[in-house]
Amino acid sequence: MNKGNKLYEGKAKIIYETKDKNLVIQHFKDDATAFNNLKKAKVEGKGVLNNRISEHILTNLSQCGVKTHLVKRLNMREQLIKKAEIFPIEFIVRNIATGSLTKRLGIPDGTQLENPLLEYCYKKDELSDPLISKEHIYTFGWASKKEIEIIDNMTRRINDLLTGMFRAIGIKLVDFKLEYGKAWNKDTEMREIVLADEISPDTCRLWDAKTEKKLDKDRFRKDLGNIIQAYQEVARRLGIMPEETNISEVNFGKTIPIKFKKK
Ligand code: 5GP
Repeated sequence: MNKGNKLYEGKAKIIYETKDKNLVIQHFKDDATAFNNLKKAKVEGKGVLNNRISEHILTNLSQCGVKTHLVKRLNMREQLIKKAEIFPIEFIVRNIATGSLTKRLGIPDGTQLENPLLEYCYKKDELSDPLISKEHIYTFGWASKKEIEIIDNMTRRINDLLTGMFRAIGIKLVDFKLEYGKAWNKDTEMREIVLADEISPDTCRLWDAKTEKKLDKDRFRKDLGNIIQAYQEVARRLGIMPEETNISEVNFGKTIPIKFKKK
């Protein structure tokens, strides 16, 4: 599948067009960002690992009947995906209180939530992705009631499946962010809601079940070090590692700071 023009460049990924108007290529970069782009670095090998981890997770979800944008992985850094019109909403699921929830509401860090908590954020970098309610979504037409009902059900099911998948490899799925979009289904000749973006240690909080060691992007956000080693550990436990792994050659573990501005 030949890569066409760049359609969009985000913080961690680039989208390229293809000859097929319904398909695009998603390229995983090594760039890491946090705190609304204030902290930036290149983490060598991260894109390769997230490409593999996300492919593995979305493929497993798809086998369980969850509709996703993934068509196939093309190479070390790229996936062929369905072109989707993305809802401007980040769908957050929390099983254990940490991160912005604890700061916002003063809930003790690490509190196990009785039921998964679903939150919605408006996807707008300039506003730092503010927390919104369903009423905001309906008022501003970001998604319909019917669409949110479908997405909430998909999100709960994904949480159940992922919680089990990670529990089996000794990892607690603390919280994560999902994105959805509407993509063309060539079999039904209709647009349908699909899980989009990626699911990886960039978008999830993953704690070792025994030690609660962080195996996710918080290692970057909190300057804990060994970012790539943590992502590799997740990939190893999932039973995947990058193809043609030349870990020594790729110089895994190197973090090159680009910019760190204090507010
Ligand atoms: P929090 O709201 O506590 O910062 O994040 C909750 C969860 O959603 C975490 O797993 C975090 O990684 C994920 N998340 C929230 N916003 C973003 C985002 O803009 N980018 C990424 N990669 N993950 C996010």
